[in-house]
Amino acid sequence: MEIVILAVVIALVAVGLVGGLVVGSRKKKKLPPPPPSTPTITPPAEPQVGEEAEKPRDEARRTIDDVGLPDATAPVEEAPVVEVPEAPALDVPEPTAGRLVRLRARLARSQNSLGKGLLTLLSRDNLDEDTWEEIEDTLLTADVGVAPTQELVERLRERVRVLGTRTPEELRALLREELITLLGPDFDREVKTEGGAETPGVVMVVGVNGTGKTTTTGKLARVLVADGRSVVLGAADTFRAAAADQLQTWGERVGARTVRGPEGGDPASIAYDAVKEGIAEGADVVLIDTAGRLHTKTGLMDELGKVKRVVEKHGPLDEVLLVLDATTGQNGLVQARVFAEVVDITGIVLTKLDGTAKGGIVIAVQRELGVPVKLIGLGEGPDDLAPFEPGAFVDALIGD
Ligand code: GDP
Repeated sequence: MEIVILAVVIALVAVGLVGGLVVGSRKKKKLPPPPPSTPTITPPAEPQVGEEAEKPRDEARRTIDDVGLPDATAPVEEAPVVEVPEAPALDVPEPTAGRLVRLRARLARSQNSLGKGLLTLLSRDNLDEDTWEEIEDTLLTADVGVAPTQELVERLRERVRVLGTRTPEELRALLREELITLLGPDFDREVKTEGGAETPGVVMVVGVNGTGKTTTTGKLARVLVADGRSVVLGAADTFRAAAADQLQTWGERVGARTVRGPEGGDPASIAYDAVKEGIAEGADVVLIDTAGRLHTKTGLMDELGKVKRVVEKHGPLDEVLLVLDATTGQNGLVQARVFAEVVDITGIVLTKLDGTAKGGIVIAVQRELGVPVKLIGLGEGPDDLAPFEPGAFVDALIGD
């Protein structure tokens, strides 16, 4: 019996050994035979093929796993950071004093033909009829208007005659004086924003679409902020789809809230709400941008009157600024006339003076409405709106 058990054990051990050899031989078969005598060729080639084939796979798996885990947790850690960009830096608008002087080069470039042309003509030795006609043409071409042109030429003729012989300096001083007289140096050009004891100053901005009305409203907000005032904007131009967004963007840059309504909504109610918001916030000024297709339809013109009436339920308006595009010449004057019939315009903003040589429109439009140009637009930049100053304006035309 013991013999039988011993035989079985021996048999089992023998089978185990054989199996182990087989397995071992299988494993060994996978391994390359040891390099014989030519180590330079075989070792790198054969043994590493298998290893290389496995290693990258392992590494790849490890890499994905390793990278995957931290990645999965990363967003959780970064999530609170998303809330951080809540404090957009506000713009600091340029001070308003001296803006016209800063923008003078731009004005001078576009108005060269007017100022310099006049000086050159006046400097001729012989100021004959033809020359005076040329002076007249120069003024008319610059949109000064017929009546103001005739007035200016008459006064120049008289003064040049009295002067007799004339130096360039004298001529320049004379022309400067007469142009300033024509621009009405006594007009009060301050943009009124005082408001009442309990109410903010309210400024309504009107004008035809495309004149730069919304841009001007945004720029004016910056002018006021630069002067230390707080501003609420009313996006009552509900006809032009992008106008409210455009205005809001301007406002956000200087920290001014924009009150807006649905597209195509009632402009009067938005204007009313804007003033209400201004009162609630204790704002200094409310600027209301209005719809701009008005001059073409009587109904819409009536609506502008309605906006004004509704706003005035809170208190009187401080300003109604009419925005005119200086490049539109006579058409601008027609617009001015129509708007003046519907609302009492208290000031004019002439935009795009940087893009036209017809700066004489300043004179013509003031004559037309009997209302001063208070601000001028001299570019598309956010601070390219300047308070209008006749002296600085004329200096830009004829140079110092
Ligand atoms: P709105 O339809 O009257 O509100 O006109 P926008 O405010 O949208 O302005 C129309 C275009 O005129 C825009 O491209 C403005 O950048 C441009 N614009 C406004 N003011 C001036 C200016 O003083 N100079 C120049 N060159 N472009 C201006």
